Amino acid sequence: MHHRAKPEQIERVVETIGDMGYRAKPMPGHQRTAIGLVGNDGRVDSARLEGLPGVREIIKVSKPYKQVSREWREESTLVRLGNGTVLGGPEVVLMAGPCSVEGRGQILDIAAQVRDLGASVLRGGAFKPRTSPYSFQGLEERGLELLAEARERTGLAIVTEAVDAESVALVAEYADMIQIGTRNMQNYPLLKSAGRAGKPVLLKRGMSATITELLLAAEYLLSEGNADVALCERGVRGFDPATRNVFDLTAIPVVKSLTHLPIVADPSHATGVRDKVTPMARAAVAAGADGLIVEVHPDPPQALSDGAQSLYPEQFRELVAQCGPIARAIGRSLAPAPIPAAVSHAGA
Ligand code: PEP
Ligand code: MN
Repeated sequence: MHHRAKPEQIERVVETIGDMGYRAKPMPGHQRTAIGLVGNDGRVDSARLEGLPGVREIIKVSKPYKQVSREWREESTLVRLGNGTVLGGPEVVLMAGPCSVEGRGQILDIAAQVRDLGASVLRGGAFKPRTSPYSFQGLEERGLELLAEARERTGLAIVTEAVDAESVALVAEYADMIQIGTRNMQNYPLLKSAGRAGKPVLLKRGMSATITELLLAAEYLLSEGNADVALCERGVRGFDPATRNVFDLTAIPVVKSLTHLPIVADPSHATGVRDKVTPMARAAVAAGADGLIVEVHPDPPQALSDGAQSLYPEQFRELVAQCGPIARAIGRSLAPAPIPAAVSHAGA
């Protein structure tokens, strides 16, 4: 719409789209309001809309995904978490914690440490999607309770994984952000359920998924009404066993040009090797990642999952110290750790 379009002109376009049998989605922006047409089967007669007063132009979204595309929405989406952390703005958000919640002492200890070192979000799996059925499967609801206690004590927001559609509601009760893992990126019932959960989602790229498939998976979340989605590059399958995965650094600028959604980098799962995590974290910040999610454990050799890629707290300190100047070099900064007293625990 023209930047001076009147509310009644916007309303008329919305009504006309409805009359044509589609759903209209007005998106007010800084400059002007855009109105998305949802449910497009490819045969829209745009002439009916073109002539309406206040309409500036009809933009045809040329991608298979719509609502996640930059054509649909030019401004970057800001994903706000319960403790005030914002993903997608000028600040680079640090998410850190163990692969799995293993017990009360472990999670409270590492939460306090990563917070003091600059993290604003605590990661930790309570439901673990393990490749082997004999591996540690997570503490489940008890793990969620411990994460909530860690949030209470530190002011950190919580990101934790939901592994199936049935447990999304339970995870959403405790978490500030629901993680969808690489093995589940194309679990459509799970995506639909997370799209209706009322909490932000961290959607990890499938280990063999193209960027188009990642964006189509995100489209499921948005089409269910959840606009608070951040994507995550966590490495893809390669041919070389030197590292666990191949960190697709290029995905960061590519994704940022195709979508308005923020993108977080996971150098832990991308490399699988502790001493490769910090170099790739530096690279991810340089490439424009909106956040880092890093596995840090108080005692990595004792970790019940992903110990080989988990940083010692001292190494996380070093990572933070090195990433700060890189963020500043590209006009950004690392998001400061939250101040517990100022934290709201809405949704906890
Ligand atoms: C995790 O974050 O611990 C995890 C299982 O990640 P991914 O789904 O990327 O393997
Ligand atoms: Mn892990």
